Amino acid sequence: MTLGEVASHCYNITTSYLSVSNDSAVIESTKDAIQITRNHFLQEIFPRWNPFSDQISFSYNGGKDCQALLILYLSCLWEFFLSSIQVSQYPPEYHLFPLKFLPTVYINQAETFRTLEESIETTRSRYFLSVYESPRNQTSMPEAFKNYLEHNTQTEAIVIGIRYTDPFGADLKCIQKTDSDWPEFMRIQPLLHWSLSNVWSLLLYSNEEICGLYEKGFTSVGSVNSTVPNPYLKRNPVAEREGNGPENHFKWEIRNAFGKEEPTDEVHVSRFSDSDAKILQEAGQLDYYPGWFLVDDSLERAGRARR
Ligand code: ATP
Repeated sequence: MTLGEVASHCYNITTSYLSVSNDSAVIESTKDAIQITRNHFLQEIFPRWNPFSDQISFSYNGGKDCQALLILYLSCLWEFFLSSIQVSQYPPEYHLFPLKFLPTVYINQAETFRTLEESIETTRSRYFLSVYESPRNQTSMPEAFKNYLEHNTQTEAIVIGIRYTDPFGADLKCIQKTDSDWPEFMRIQPLLHWSLSNVWSLLLYSNEEICGLYEKGFTSVGSVNSTVPNPYLKRNPVAEREGNGPENHFKWEIRNAFGKEEPTDEVHVSRFSDSDAKILQEAGQLDYYPGWFLVDDSLERAGRARR
């Protein structure tokens, strides 16, 4: 595989999602959300910062939001590439995709779950990410980005997978300068309008491998010391017997996921590490529904708590 091939694969995922005929309200709203993000990239962002130069970087921490955005980013890169060779007399296979690796920044802030670390490694090679990893625990977030920009002087804009419902997300814009206490760059935030359901619907349909922590009840992932499985997803046998347990709203996406030869209920998740299993076992936190059972945006960060 090459970056061009994985970008083309992501384009096929997106195109396939957009052509799904299913009357689910979530799928319809996710299609709208995809089109808005796509228009941002193709009409406002790429004409301003050439994605085939080093002007744009992607901020990536292995979480579900940035993975959903990465799929869309790669899909749009492929579309942008196709449109750039449209005038050529030669078919696409005669053109070389202009990028080999995607400039990516990962701020390695605090103690990270082993499962997440391994999943970041897998996605690093899966999506050809050229990851700048900040020195662990040495700096604050603005300091770490300052460091990154000093090493990558061409970077003018950084793509971020933040949503309106995230803390401090409500008043953000798709394209804006960093605040005065941050190093100067343009923040590119084309996922702002996405709901939690939109993110799960696309990710689960994509059939791309997602971080194994989500299957264990995590809904948003921070450091080991500040993240637990979401308490609203704790299994409750009594409620289950009475039919009051949480519901999987994405059965259709999972069964009909992109590239599945026949419908199965299997979700493509990364390996859950033994050390993380031990942490959860010692805390009595192993019996949870998967993260995608939670669709209430206001409860997404209920698992961001001290253990
Ligand atoms: P989840 O909420 O499930 O953990 P996520 O990590 O993608 O998913 P947030 O934690 O809300 O979402 O972070 C929003 C965005 O900010 C990320 O998508 C990513 O683009 C950026 N970001 C957050 N933390 C980091 C980090 N440590 N390094 C680089 N980028 C980051």
